[in-house]
Amino acid sequence: MRVLLLSPHTDDVEIGAGGLIARLQATGEHEFRWFVFSRCADSLPAELSPEILECEFRGAAQVLGVEDIHVFDYEVRTMPGHRQEILEVLVRSRREFNPDLVLAPCLEDVHQDHMAVAQESLRAFKNSSTILGYEQPWNTVEFAARVLVRLSAADIQRKWEALSHYTSQTMLGRPYMERDAVFSWARARGNQCGSEYAEAFDLPRGVI
Ligand SMILES: [Zn+2]
Repeated sequence: MRVLLLSPHTDDVEIGAGGLIARLQATGEHEFRWFVFSRCADSLPAELSPEILECEFRGAAQVLGVEDIHVFDYEVRTMPGHRQEILEVLVRSRREFNPDLVLAPCLEDVHQDHMAVAQESLRAFKNSSTILGYEQPWNTVEFAARVLVRLSAADIQRKWEALSHYTSQTMLGRPYMERDAVFSWARARGNQCGSEYAEAFDLPRGVI
């Protein structure tokens, strides 16, 4: 498969789908392209370098074995105003990369940037690709876990190694970046599908 990864901000895909990427990479059969729409420089405290999240992202992408990465510089919380430009980026990637699978934020996500990328993904890929909407429970009121991806201990460990690159976020006390939070969330999803660990996705579109 050709797999397109869509992160409104650095770290979104790793949080929502790092385990699935690790699982797919273990087969060595898939090709990945990764778009990050914001380096999030303006959500960092002044004492941190504005490049830090992009550097951390590049470290995380390396752990997950993805080299074809493209980082844009939209300001945080402005993506709804740039939705047409984002759509054009996605339509271009549909022509050039032609993904079989797109991993995007879920449509129920209430963060304005996540919402914009989720909606433009559906617009761009609804007739061409399967779209899985990844989960960030602190951003949703409702979430339909229609697809469960079973993960091995090695997959979740790889996801954790990728997330461990975001030291700025653990320093800022983001609770979802704690090891216990990552493993227990995957464990709970695993309980739903007879697996030690799992990740859950909504399914805005399935094309086989
Ligand atoms: Zn985000």
